[in-house]
Amino acid sequence: MLPFEHHYATLPAPLWIACEPTPVAEPSLIAFNRPLAKELGASDVPDDATLAQWLSGNTPMPGAEPKALGYAGHQFGNFVPQLGDGRALLLGEVIDQQGKRRDIQLKGSGRTPFSRGGDGRSPLGPVLREYLVSEFMAAVGIPTTRALAAVASGERVVRQMSEPGAVFTRVASSHVRVGTFQFAAARQDEVALKALADHVIARHYPEAANAEDPYLALLEAVVARQAVLIARWMSVGFIHGVMNTDNCSIAGETIDYGPCAFMEQFDPQKVYSSIDQGRRYAFANQPAIAQWNLARFAETLLPLMREEGDALVEQATDAIRHFEPLFSAEQRRLRADKLGLAMESAQADALMEALQSHMYQGRMDMTATFDALTHCAASPSDASREALLALTSQPEVLAEWLDTWQTEAVAATDTARLDAMRRANPIIIPRNHRVQEVIDAAYKGDFAPFHALLSVVTKPYDESTEARRLAAPASDNEQVLRTFC
Ligand code: AMP
Ligand code: MG
Ligand code: MG
Repeated sequence: MLPFEHHYATLPAPLWIACEPTPVAEPSLIAFNRPLAKELGASDVPDDATLAQWLSGNTPMPGAEPKALGYAGHQFGNFVPQLGDGRALLLGEVIDQQGKRRDIQLKGSGRTPFSRGGDGRSPLGPVLREYLVSEFMAAVGIPTTRALAAVASGERVVRQMSEPGAVFTRVASSHVRVGTFQFAAARQDEVALKALADHVIARHYPEAANAEDPYLALLEAVVARQAVLIARWMSVGFIHGVMNTDNCSIAGETIDYGPCAFMEQFDPQKVYSSIDQGRRYAFANQPAIAQWNLARFAETLLPLMREEGDALVEQATDAIRHFEPLFSAEQRRLRADKLGLAMESAQADALMEALQSHMYQGRMDMTATFDALTHCAASPSDASREALLALTSQPEVLAEWLDTWQTEAVAATDTARLDAMRRANPIIIPRNHRVQEVIDAAYKGDFAPFHALLSVVTKPYDESTEARRLAAPASDNEQVLRTFC
């Protein structure tokens, strides 16, 4: 079905270990992403029963050579020299229709040499969450791993309680993480480190190969992609939840959807993850954490760089510092789009900061606020104005802000800017309580709510009664304030 290649296999041990999936009791296909399969160049897609066998790991997929990848990582700031794919296997790579190399990975496919105490499995709930959230991210144009398939295993896995299990098929530009570099560096294996860096340059950053110092150019390029990524996350209120260095993709994609969530009421200090007790990965901390992770990446590259001594450290430090202006530039662009303002508007930053403060003080839902503001721009009227003011507990204060915004904002006739504003402000996000509802139904064997939510979050700008129903913020008693992985 997929013409697999195995370029990663040319990298030296210990960067990967061949390993077979462990069969599951009774695989059944929950979802298969046909448009993505087409994008990947899949042909002769078999029936659902065969897909379930292949994508659970029960029967080998033709051409696959499963391997577990090694990586290390700073988990909540503490370095662990060996983590690795404890419950995932890379089946191989395919060249997609754009000519891009993509990884196909099973997650939840059984124990590997990197499993430590773990069971190698995934509960169904997190599989469904990852499917929904990663496909939403793709739909709003945020770089992300993709969901190719979800298969129920017919087995139970034990977490806080006994839950049904599932296997997820993930597609990534690559699975190389900051932690992959840390793994080679911690072993002081310069051969593996250099091979890895050269692999990543050839695969993701070919222009760096021609730079005076390719490894410095690699660092700069990764910093640039991460800066853009984090700014985009924040523009839709995304909180990753576990920004450990092993969950930081060198290709600049969102990877490893665990206890992630979208902010509802705007609050920069918001945390949903049950495991983030120190609030390390709170919404507003994300740029600083990404920069910290990139500094760990830079440390691994130092032995490969040309400069020596103080000049070397200074050069790497400059590359990391550059995160800030790159992040701010992307953030400014996104803010202007979200507010329907011209890019060069000097007012954009001030208006956004004032609006954020109103959202916080007035307990406003972030997504609903920007959706209502988009309506104010598209069809200015008392009705659209009242709809926005209805979202805050302090309408008088917001009304003043709205007057200032109206003098700056998009003219109703400027369709290009209105389009940009709409694209920056999706109608719907995968809200926690909706995702939880889907999981609860799936645990009772009903996957209809999953498919219904998937279909609207993957068309996040389309108006429909169903979209509006599922887009509505949680009422007080519907709120889900804690997420688990
Ligand atoms: P994560 O929190 O998903 O980023 O995972 C951190 C590390 O724990 C990675 O090395 C995973 O492969 C490993 N891991 C997570 N869950 C399991 C599991 N159920 N069995 C084995 N390893 C796991
Ligand atoms: Mg991870
Ligand atoms: Mg995870």
